[in-house]
Amino acid sequence: MAQILDGKKISEKIYTEISEIVQKKYAQNPPKLVVILVGDDPASAVYVSNKEKSCHKAGILSQTIRLSKNVSEEEVLKTITTLNIDESVTGIIVQLPLPKHISPEKVIMTIDPQKDVDGFHPENLGNLYLSKETEFLPPATPAGIITLLEENTIEIAGKNVAIVGRSNNVGKAISLMLLNRNATITVCHSYTQNIDHFLKNADIIVVATGKKQMITGEMVKNGVVVVDVGIHRHENGTLCGDVDFESVSLKASYITPVPGGVGPMTVASLIKNTLRAHEKKWKSRIF
Ligand code: NDP
Repeated sequence: MAQILDGKKISEKIYTEISEIVQKKYAQNPPKLVVILVGDDPASAVYVSNKEKSCHKAGILSQTIRLSKNVSEEEVLKTITTLNIDESVTGIIVQLPLPKHISPEKVIMTIDPQKDVDGFHPENLGNLYLSKETEFLPPATPAGIITLLEENTIEIAGKNVAIVGRSNNVGKAISLMLLNRNATITVCHSYTQNIDHFLKNADIIVVATGKKQMITGEMVKNGVVVVDVGIHRHENGTLCGDVDFESVSLKASYITPVPGGVGPMTVASLIKNTLRAHEKKWKSRIF
């Protein structure tokens, strides 16, 4: 039976560490994260509330700006521009998804890359591509996955990794982060023929497809490390991922649960990025 990669536990440890740093170094000028929430999607409201609670645990100030679902794109961009120049604001998140009339690309492009704690801005993703990982804010979910693996001392260098899914902010980004750590990467997507072949050769598998429980025990090899990014709700209200936990956990050496795996690590990475953005801001003032 697989060991659990416990994102909840590691995220709590990260909040304690961050809160100690904030108390020690920034008691008079704590970092501040502002989340813009457009509309009344209940799932988004839960995510935003989790972010507020996590900020509190980490000693980071938080503010949520709630805008109506009918707000114009121009108004959203104006709100971001105001936050960009507000010295008291360290990080800005616009909760996705947005109503159809608002372009997520335009929104992301408008956020100051130095305040883009989601790590979605092309400047931050470009620095990931150039392997300049220490100089930028990494995309939150992939950064959380790396921390989860490292905290469990799972070796990455030299390992065969199969990633299922190639979205900009998850699949493609985690492939680069693992490549930068000297793994050999295969990225599978909806056109990949015979996915099982790649999964069976993988020491580590990361699944981010948005397809409920699509990876099953017979598709993976014994001892594999499995990271499940997906989140789905069963009709009875319980949650599951893109991986069939029951069958895969019988063969894996380590596996992330859903909930309690990648989800809490994503939020912890946002908070870590907020501290990182704050440290960069204060360093640049001192020198
Ligand atoms: P996207 O929809 O942007 O991308 C999905 C990817 O999966 C695409 O590249 C697609 O391929 C690929 N794919 C879909 N079906 C298959 C299939 N049958 N076989 C192989 N590949 C397939 O999703 P995201 O990356 O944004 O998110 C993925 C999941 O992770 C979602 O459930 C989302 O809710 C969750 N998520 C969870 C987070 C967390 O913090 N836990 C954070 C972010 C996302 P193609 O490109 O060919 O279409």
